[in-house]
Amino acid sequence: MNFRSGVAYLPPLGNLRPSPHMVDRAQFVFGVDLDGVVADFAEGLRPVAAEWLGVSPNDLTKEISYGFREWKLEASGGYDALHRFAVKQRNLFRSLPQIPGAAASLRRLSKLDIRIRIITHRLYIEWFHKEAVQQTIEWLEDHGIPYWDLCFMRDKAAVGADLYIEDSPTNIRALRAEGHPTIVFVNSTNRDLPDPRAESWREVEELVRTEFGRWKKRSPTG
Ligand SMILES: [Mg+2]
Repeated sequence: MNFRSGVAYLPPLGNLRPSPHMVDRAQFVFGVDLDGVVADFAEGLRPVAAEWLGVSPNDLTKEISYGFREWKLEASGGYDALHRFAVKQRNLFRSLPQIPGAAASLRRLSKLDIRIRIITHRLYIEWFHKEAVQQTIEWLEDHGIPYWDLCFMRDKAAVGADLYIEDSPTNIRALRAEGHPTIVFVNSTNRDLPDPRAESWREVEELVRTEFGRWKKRSPTG
């Protein structure tokens, strides 16, 4: 068994040929958060929240902080109740808009032999993991997003990646505190965090290519 690349596999048997993605060699791993980075979670949730609250989507500010407290959800059951309704009754994870350019950038980066590892904390409310996982996989396929690892994890540093992209201030601080290079994908929740930062996927791609170039120079197999 080989665990080095993050995937366990048995050596090929007989005339079975290993796929290029199962070869035992170091690969640059790009750890990619989904919500707020690849999928526009806030924009997808806004119309559902408006329906839940009985208001117009325009009444709900886009200048949100982490937890959506500006939308005043408490009187209607709080954020968790809305989240459950949105995923179970409105297929939220299946219908989120894409952050512009994300899928195309990931396709180009994957083509450079960068391993895309999706790391998301979508399983944080109990009893509807089936819907959350299924909708996530369908959404990724539907948008043609290339990836080899899909990790539903709260502790993102535990997964391992050479470079991360994140929008949650808590996760960014935790990753950086442990020495993991992390790009901030800029939104209203993380404006105070230092570089490296990206306002668009064009900028993300540039930063990843630069970091990948540095890694290749350091890597004996690169
Ligand atoms: Mg996020």
